[in-house]
Amino acid sequence: MQNSLAVQVPRDLLDPLITDLPVIDPEGLVSIILIWSQGQITDIKPFKPSNNVSLPLAISPLLDPHTHIDKSYSSKIELSNYGMSQSLLVNTIEHSFRTRNILEKRVNYSLHLAWCQGVRGIRTHVDTLSPAGRLTWEVLQDLRLQWIDRLALQLVALAPLPYWITDKGFDLASKVVRSGGLLGGILGPPYSKSLYAKDDVLKFLYLAQSLNCSVDLHIDESSAEPGTGVRLITSIMERCKFDISIACSHTSSMGLLSIKDCRELSNRMAAVNLQVISLPWTNFWLLGRQEQATPVMRPIAPIYQLQAAGVNVCIGSDNIQDAWFPMGSFDIIKLICFSIWVTHLTPWSRQGLSLFTTAPSRLMGLEWDGVFRIGAPADILLFDCQTWQSLFSEFPRRRMLRRGQWD
Ligand SMILES: [Zn+2]
Repeated sequence: MQNSLAVQVPRDLLDPLITDLPVIDPEGLVSIILIWSQGQITDIKPFKPSNNVSLPLAISPLLDPHTHIDKSYSSKIELSNYGMSQSLLVNTIEHSFRTRNILEKRVNYSLHLAWCQGVRGIRTHVDTLSPAGRLTWEVLQDLRLQWIDRLALQLVALAPLPYWITDKGFDLASKVVRSGGLLGGILGPPYSKSLYAKDDVLKFLYLAQSLNCSVDLHIDESSAEPGTGVRLITSIMERCKFDISIACSHTSSMGLLSIKDCRELSNRMAAVNLQVISLPWTNFWLLGRQEQATPVMRPIAPIYQLQAAGVNVCIGSDNIQDAWFPMGSFDIIKLICFSIWVTHLTPWSRQGLSLFTTAPSRLMGLEWDGVFRIGAPADILLFDCQTWQSLFSEFPRRRMLRRGQWD
Protein backbone atom coordinates (compact mmCIF):
# COMPACT_ATOMS: atom_id res chain seq x y z
CA MET A 1 0.00 0.00 0.00
CA GLN A 2 1.24 3.46 -0.92
CA ASN A 3 1.10 6.43 1.45
CA SER A 4 2.00 10.06 1.13
CA LEU A 5 2.50 13.21 3.16
CA ALA A 6 2.78 16.85 2.10
CA VAL A 7 5.35 18.63 4.27
CA GLN A 8 7.96 21.35 4.39
CA VAL A 9 11.46 19.95 4.84
CA PRO A 10 14.86 21.66 5.00
CA ARG A 11 16.42 21.69 1.51
CA ASP A 12 19.59 20.38 3.11
CA LEU A 13 17.76 17.17 4.14
CA LEU A 14 16.55 16.54 0.61
CA ASP A 15 18.38 14.65 -2.13
CA PRO A 16 20.52 17.31 -3.91
CA LEU A 17 19.87 15.52 -7.21
CA ILE A 18 16.18 16.48 -7.09
CA THR A 19 15.87 19.73 -8.98
CA ASP A 20 12.21 20.30 -9.92
CA LEU A 21 11.35 21.81 -6.54
CA PRO A 22 9.26 24.81 -5.49
CA VAL A 23 11.07 27.94 -4.35
CA ILE A 24 13.00 27.53 -1.10
CA ASP A 25 11.56 29.83 1.56
CA PRO A 26 13.68 32.19 3.74
CA GLU A 27 13.86 29.50 6.45
CA GLY A 28 15.49 27.09 4.00
CA LEU A 29 12.33 24.98 3.73
CA VAL A 30 10.81 23.49 0.63
CA SER A 31 7.30 22.06 0.14
CA ILE A 32 7.20 18.51 -1.13
CA ILE A 33 5.11 15.34 -1.12
CA LEU A 34 6.89 12.33 0.32
CA ILE A 35 5.52 9.03 -0.99
CA TRP A 36 6.39 5.69 0.58
CA SER A 37 5.61 2.03 0.33
CA GLN A 38 6.76 -0.97 2.39
CA GLY A 39 8.78 1.22 4.74
CA GLN A 40 10.79 3.04 2.07
CA ILE A 41 10.47 6.36 0.27
CA THR A 42 9.47 5.59 -3.30
CA ASP A 43 8.96 9.09 -4.71
CA ILE A 44 9.42 12.77 -3.85
CA LYS A 45 7.25 15.27 -5.72
CA PRO A 46 7.06 19.06 -5.62
CA PHE A 47 4.02 20.39 -3.75
CA LYS A 48 2.10 22.98 -5.72
CA PRO A 49 -0.47 24.64 -3.47
CA SER A 50 -3.66 25.91 -5.06
CA ASN A 51 -3.90 28.61 -2.39
CA ASN A 52 -1.65 29.92 0.37
CA VAL A 53 -1.67 26.74 2.43
CA SER A 54 1.26 26.28 4.80
CA LEU A 55 2.47 22.74 5.32
CA PRO A 56 3.77 21.25 8.58
CA LEU A 57 7.52 21.15 9.22
CA ALA A 58 9.26 17.77 9.07
CA ILE A 59 12.84 16.55 9.44
CA SER A 60 14.50 13.16 9.60
CA PRO A 61 14.76 11.56 13.06
CA LEU A 62 17.65 12.85 15.16
CA LEU A 63 20.82 11.46 16.68
CA ASP A 64 22.60 11.93 19.99
CA PRO A 65 26.30 11.23 19.40
CA HIS A 66 27.49 11.57 23.02
CA THR A 67 25.62 10.56 26.17
CA HIS A 68 26.22 8.66 29.42
CA ILE A 69 23.01 6.67 29.45
CA ASP A 70 24.18 4.36 32.27
CA LYS A 71 23.95 7.27 34.69
CA SER A 72 21.02 9.23 33.30
CA TYR A 73 18.35 9.98 35.89
CA SER A 74 20.68 8.95 38.74
CA SER A 75 21.09 12.19 40.66
CA LYS A 76 19.14 14.90 42.38
CA ILE A 77 19.57 18.52 41.37
CA GLU A 78 21.02 19.62 44.73
CA LEU A 79 23.96 17.20 44.34
CA SER A 80 24.96 18.51 40.93
CA ASN A 81 25.62 22.09 41.80
CA TYR A 82 29.26 22.24 42.85
CA GLY A 83 31.46 21.70 39.80
CA MET A 84 33.83 18.94 38.68
CA SER A 85 35.22 17.52 41.94
CA GLN A 86 31.81 17.25 43.65
CA SER A 87 30.38 15.67 40.51
CA LEU A 88 33.13 13.04 40.50
CA LEU A 89 32.41 12.17 44.13
CA VAL A 90 28.64 11.87 43.56
CA ASN A 91 29.33 9.79 40.43
CA THR A 92 31.52 7.34 42.42
CA ILE A 93 28.91 6.97 45.16
CA GLU A 94 26.20 6.30 42.58
CA HIS A 95 28.22 3.39 41.17
CA SER A 96 28.30 1.65 44.55
CA PHE A 97 24.47 1.45 44.56
CA ARG A 98 24.05 0.01 41.07
CA THR A 99 22.12 -3.23 40.60
CA ARG A 100 20.94 -4.92 37.42
CA ASN A 101 17.37 -3.93 38.22
CA ILE A 102 18.21 -0.24 38.78
CA LEU A 103 20.30 -0.07 35.61
CA GLU A 104 17.75 -1.83 33.42
CA LYS A 105 14.98 0.43 34.64
CA ARG A 106 16.98 3.63 34.17
CA VAL A 107 18.44 2.78 30.76
CA ASN A 108 15.14 1.46 29.42
CA TYR A 109 13.42 4.64 30.57
CA SER A 110 16.08 6.76 28.86
CA LEU A 111 15.90 4.83 25.60
CA HIS A 112 12.13 4.97 25.60
CA LEU A 113 12.15 8.70 26.25
CA ALA A 114 14.65 9.34 23.46
CA TRP A 115 12.77 7.13 21.03
CA CYS A 116 9.40 8.79 21.78
CA GLN A 117 10.94 12.18 21.06
CA GLY A 118 12.26 11.20 17.65
CA VAL A 119 15.80 9.93 18.27
CA ARG A 120 17.01 7.09 16.03
CA GLY A 121 20.55 6.60 17.33
CA ILE A 122 22.61 7.19 20.46
CA ARG A 123 26.29 6.83 21.25
CA THR A 124 26.90 6.40 24.95
CA HIS A 125 30.08 6.29 27.01
CA VAL A 126 30.08 3.64 29.73
CA ASP A 127 32.13 3.80 32.95
CA THR A 128 33.82 0.45 32.53
CA LEU A 129 36.36 0.18 35.34
CA SER A 130 34.20 0.85 38.39
CA PRO A 131 33.17 -2.09 40.63
CA ALA A 132 29.85 -2.11 38.75
CA GLY A 133 31.53 -1.68 35.37
CA ARG A 134 31.13 -5.25 34.18
CA LEU A 135 27.47 -5.39 35.22
CA THR A 136 26.83 -2.04 33.52
CA TRP A 137 28.39 -3.20 30.26
CA GLU A 138 26.36 -6.45 30.32
CA VAL A 139 23.08 -4.61 30.94
CA LEU A 140 23.77 -2.11 28.17
CA GLN A 141 24.72 -4.86 25.73
CA ASP A 142 21.47 -6.72 26.48
CA LEU A 143 19.41 -3.56 26.03
CA ARG A 144 21.30 -2.60 22.88
CA LEU A 145 20.17 -5.86 21.30
CA GLN A 146 16.61 -5.51 22.62
CA TRP A 147 16.33 -2.06 21.04
CA ILE A 148 18.22 -2.78 17.83
CA ASP A 149 15.13 -2.61 15.56
CA ARG A 150 14.08 0.76 16.96
CA LEU A 151 17.25 2.62 17.82
CA ALA A 152 20.99 2.25 17.07
CA LEU A 153 22.89 2.22 20.37
CA GLN A 154 26.69 2.46 20.27
CA LEU A 155 28.72 1.75 23.40
CA VAL A 156 32.07 3.36 24.16
CA ALA A 157 34.06 1.71 26.97
CA LEU A 158 35.38 4.55 29.12
CA ALA A 159 38.58 3.80 31.09
CA PRO A 160 41.77 5.74 31.93
CA LEU A 161 44.22 5.72 29.01
CA PRO A 162 47.08 4.14 31.04
CA TYR A 163 44.78 1.21 31.88
CA TRP A 164 44.21 0.32 28.24
CA ILE A 165 47.90 -0.28 27.69
CA THR A 166 48.20 -2.88 30.47
CA ASP A 167 47.67 -6.63 29.89
CA LYS A 168 44.27 -6.44 31.61
CA GLY A 169 43.39 -3.42 29.49
CA PHE A 170 44.28 -5.27 26.32
CA ASP A 171 42.03 -8.19 27.31
CA LEU A 172 39.18 -5.82 28.08
CA ALA A 173 39.70 -3.95 24.79
CA SER A 174 39.52 -7.24 22.87
CA LYS A 175 36.21 -8.07 24.58
CA VAL A 176 34.83 -4.60 23.84
CA VAL A 177 35.74 -4.93 20.17
CA ARG A 178 34.20 -8.42 19.94
CA SER A 179 30.93 -7.01 21.27
CA GLY A 180 30.93 -4.20 18.71
CA GLY A 181 31.96 -1.42 21.10
CA LEU A 182 34.42 1.47 20.84
CA LEU A 183 37.34 2.45 23.07
CA GLY A 184 37.18 5.64 25.11
CA GLY A 185 39.23 7.56 27.65
CA ILE A 186 39.95 10.99 29.01
CA LEU A 187 42.74 13.36 28.00
CA GLY A 188 42.90 16.71 29.75
CA PRO A 189 45.00 19.07 31.84
CA PRO A 190 47.22 19.26 33.74
CA TYR A 191 49.64 18.26 30.99
CA SER A 192 52.70 18.88 33.17
CA LYS A 193 53.70 15.25 32.61
CA SER A 194 53.14 15.63 28.90
CA LEU A 195 55.82 13.09 27.97
CA TYR A 196 53.86 10.38 29.76
CA ALA A 197 50.61 11.59 28.24
CA LYS A 198 52.11 11.46 24.77
CA ASP A 199 53.45 7.97 25.32
CA ASP A 200 50.11 6.75 26.73
CA VAL A 201 48.12 8.22 23.86
CA LEU A 202 50.47 6.75 21.28
CA LYS A 203 50.30 3.25 22.79
CA PHE A 204 46.53 3.53 23.17
CA LEU A 205 46.10 4.43 19.52
CA TYR A 206 48.40 1.58 18.46
CA LEU A 207 46.18 -0.74 20.51
CA ALA A 208 43.01 0.61 18.85
CA GLN A 209 44.62 0.33 15.42
CA SER A 210 45.72 -3.27 16.08
CA LEU A 211 42.11 -4.14 16.97
CA ASN A 212 40.71 -2.01 14.12
CA CYS A 213 38.52 -0.25 16.67
CA SER A 214 37.10 3.28 16.57
CA VAL A 215 38.02 5.64 19.38
CA ASP A 216 36.08 8.40 21.13
CA LEU A 217 37.99 10.43 23.71
CA HIS A 218 36.91 13.13 26.17
CA ILE A 219 39.53 15.74 25.30
CA ASP A 220 40.28 19.16 26.77
CA GLU A 221 37.07 19.54 28.76
CA SER A 222 38.68 22.48 30.50
CA SER A 223 39.45 26.17 30.55
CA ALA A 224 43.19 25.54 31.03
CA GLU A 225 46.02 24.78 28.59
CA PRO A 226 43.90 25.52 25.50
CA GLY A 227 43.85 22.84 22.82
CA THR A 228 46.81 20.88 24.23
CA GLY A 229 45.19 17.43 24.07
CA VAL A 230 43.78 17.94 20.59
CA ARG A 231 47.15 19.22 19.37
CA LEU A 232 48.81 16.12 20.83
CA ILE A 233 46.43 13.72 19.07
CA THR A 234 46.77 15.68 15.84
CA SER A 235 50.57 15.52 15.87
CA ILE A 236 50.49 11.76 16.58
CA MET A 237 48.05 11.26 13.71
CA GLU A 238 50.25 13.29 11.37
CA ARG A 239 53.18 11.03 12.19
CA CYS A 240 51.52 7.62 12.45
CA LYS A 241 48.66 7.88 9.96
CA PHE A 242 46.33 5.49 11.81
CA ASP A 243 43.30 4.67 9.69
CA ILE A 244 40.77 4.22 12.51
CA SER A 245 37.97 6.67 13.23
CA ILE A 246 38.98 9.05 16.03
CA ALA A 247 36.44 11.36 17.68
CA CYS A 248 37.37 14.22 19.98
CA SER A 249 34.51 14.82 22.41
CA HIS A 250 34.33 18.25 24.08
CA THR A 251 37.45 19.96 22.56
CA SER A 252 36.26 22.88 24.67
CA SER A 253 39.49 24.69 25.54
CA MET A 254 40.43 24.85 21.86
CA GLY A 255 37.81 27.59 21.63
CA LEU A 256 40.11 29.80 23.73
CA LEU A 257 42.94 29.77 21.15
CA SER A 258 43.65 32.87 19.09
CA ILE A 259 41.87 33.02 15.72
CA LYS A 260 45.12 32.23 13.90
CA ASP A 261 46.12 29.29 16.13
CA CYS A 262 42.58 27.93 16.03
CA ARG A 263 42.49 28.07 12.23
CA GLU A 264 45.87 26.35 11.91
CA LEU A 265 44.95 23.55 14.31
CA SER A 266 41.52 23.10 12.67
CA ASN A 267 43.19 22.66 9.27
CA ARG A 268 45.61 20.09 10.68
CA MET A 269 42.74 18.21 12.37
CA ALA A 270 40.79 18.11 9.11
CA ALA A 271 43.83 16.77 7.25
CA VAL A 272 44.06 13.76 9.61
CA ASN A 273 40.28 13.16 9.68
CA LEU A 274 39.67 13.89 13.35
CA GLN A 275 35.99 14.37 14.18
CA VAL A 276 34.58 16.56 16.96
CA ILE A 277 31.55 16.28 19.22
CA SER A 278 30.72 19.52 20.99
CA LEU A 279 28.76 19.29 24.25
CA PRO A 280 27.50 22.76 25.12
CA TRP A 281 25.08 21.79 27.90
CA THR A 282 27.70 20.34 30.25
CA ASN A 283 30.38 22.80 29.14
CA PHE A 284 28.19 25.72 30.13
CA TRP A 285 27.32 23.99 33.40
CA LEU A 286 30.74 22.76 34.55
CA LEU A 287 33.36 25.01 32.95
CA GLY A 288 34.31 28.56 33.84
CA ARG A 289 32.83 28.32 37.36
CA GLN A 290 33.93 31.00 39.79
CA GLU A 291 33.27 31.68 43.44
CA GLN A 292 30.76 34.50 43.80
CA ALA A 293 31.03 35.71 40.24
CA THR A 294 29.03 35.21 37.09
CA PRO A 295 31.18 33.34 34.58
CA VAL A 296 31.76 35.17 31.32
CA MET A 297 34.45 32.92 29.86
CA ARG A 298 32.54 29.97 28.38
CA PRO A 299 34.86 27.44 26.72
CA ILE A 300 33.21 25.53 23.89
CA ALA A 301 34.56 23.80 20.78
CA PRO A 302 35.14 26.34 17.97
CA ILE A 303 32.46 24.71 15.83
CA TYR A 304 32.37 27.28 13.05
CA GLN A 305 36.14 27.29 12.54
CA LEU A 306 36.32 23.49 12.62
CA GLN A 307 33.53 23.16 10.05
CA ALA A 308 35.16 25.80 7.86
CA ALA A 309 38.34 23.70 7.86
CA GLY A 310 36.36 20.62 6.83
CA VAL A 311 36.15 18.79 10.19
CA ASN A 312 33.01 16.70 10.75
CA VAL A 313 31.40 18.30 13.84
CA CYS A 314 28.34 17.16 15.82
CA ILE A 315 26.58 18.29 18.96
CA GLY A 316 25.44 15.88 21.69
CA SER A 317 23.66 16.00 25.05
CA ASP A 318 26.41 14.49 27.23
CA ASN A 319 24.96 14.07 30.72
CA ILE A 320 21.24 13.89 31.51
CA GLN A 321 20.08 14.39 35.10
CA ASP A 322 23.16 12.85 36.69
CA ALA A 323 26.04 13.96 38.89
CA TRP A 324 27.52 16.06 36.09
CA PHE A 325 24.47 17.87 34.75
CA PRO A 326 21.11 18.15 36.51
CA MET A 327 18.79 18.71 33.55
CA GLY A 328 18.00 17.40 30.05
CA SER A 329 15.54 14.77 28.83
CA PHE A 330 16.97 13.32 25.58
CA ASP A 331 14.97 15.95 23.70
CA ILE A 332 17.27 16.94 20.85
CA ILE A 333 14.95 19.77 19.83
CA LYS A 334 15.68 21.47 23.16
CA LEU A 335 19.40 20.84 22.64
CA ILE A 336 19.20 22.44 19.18
CA CYS A 337 17.40 25.42 20.72
CA PHE A 338 20.13 25.88 23.36
CA SER A 339 22.84 25.45 20.75
CA ILE A 340 21.33 28.18 18.59
CA TRP A 341 21.77 30.66 21.46
CA VAL A 342 25.33 29.69 22.32
CA THR A 343 26.82 28.94 18.90
CA HIS A 344 24.81 31.27 16.63
CA LEU A 345 24.58 28.35 14.20
CA THR A 346 20.99 27.82 13.15
CA PRO A 347 19.23 24.78 11.67
CA TRP A 348 18.03 26.93 8.79
CA SER A 349 21.64 26.86 7.58
CA ARG A 350 23.43 23.73 6.36
CA GLN A 351 26.17 24.02 9.02
CA GLY A 352 23.68 24.37 11.84
CA LEU A 353 21.42 21.52 10.73
CA SER A 354 24.20 19.03 9.93
CA LEU A 355 25.38 19.13 13.58
CA PHE A 356 22.31 17.07 14.57
CA THR A 357 21.59 15.08 11.39
CA THR A 358 24.14 14.18 8.72
CA ALA A 359 27.30 14.81 10.80
CA PRO A 360 26.43 12.46 13.70
CA SER A 361 25.25 9.88 11.19
CA ARG A 362 28.68 10.03 9.55
CA LEU A 363 30.40 9.88 12.94
CA MET A 364 28.41 6.82 13.97
CA GLY A 365 28.83 5.15 10.58
CA LEU A 366 25.08 4.66 10.16
CA GLU A 367 23.63 3.31 6.95
CA TRP A 368 21.27 6.28 6.44
CA ASP A 369 22.63 9.83 6.53
CA GLY A 370 19.20 11.31 7.31
CA VAL A 371 18.65 12.77 3.83
CA PHE A 372 15.26 12.12 2.23
CA ARG A 373 15.78 10.35 -1.10
CA ILE A 374 14.17 7.52 -3.03
CA GLY A 375 15.11 4.28 -1.27
CA ALA A 376 15.68 5.95 2.13
CA PRO A 377 13.69 4.69 5.14
CA ALA A 378 10.21 6.19 5.44
CA ASP A 379 11.17 7.74 8.80
CA ILE A 380 9.84 11.24 9.45
CA LEU A 381 9.78 13.46 12.52
CA LEU A 382 6.71 15.65 11.98
CA PHE A 383 5.92 18.79 13.98
CA ASP A 384 2.61 20.50 14.55
CA CYS A 385 3.98 23.84 13.30
CA GLN A 386 5.01 25.47 10.04
CA THR A 387 8.20 27.36 10.91
CA TRP A 388 11.49 26.96 12.77
CA GLN A 389 10.53 30.02 14.78
CA SER A 390 7.42 28.31 16.04
CA LEU A 391 9.27 25.04 16.69
CA PHE A 392 11.82 26.69 18.99
CA SER A 393 9.40 29.10 20.61
CA GLU A 394 6.37 26.90 21.25
CA PHE A 395 7.82 23.35 21.24
CA PRO A 396 4.71 21.94 19.54
CA ARG A 397 3.51 18.35 19.51
CA ARG A 398 5.47 15.92 17.34
CA ARG A 399 4.71 12.62 15.63
CA MET A 400 7.01 9.93 14.30
CA LEU A 401 6.68 7.87 11.17
CA ARG A 402 8.96 4.84 11.34
CA ARG A 403 9.42 2.47 8.44
CA GLY A 404 6.19 3.86 7.02
CA GLN A 405 4.10 3.35 10.16
CA TRP A 406 2.83 6.14 12.40
CA ASP A 407 3.48 5.68 16.12
ZN1 LIG B 1 30.86 12.79 28.27
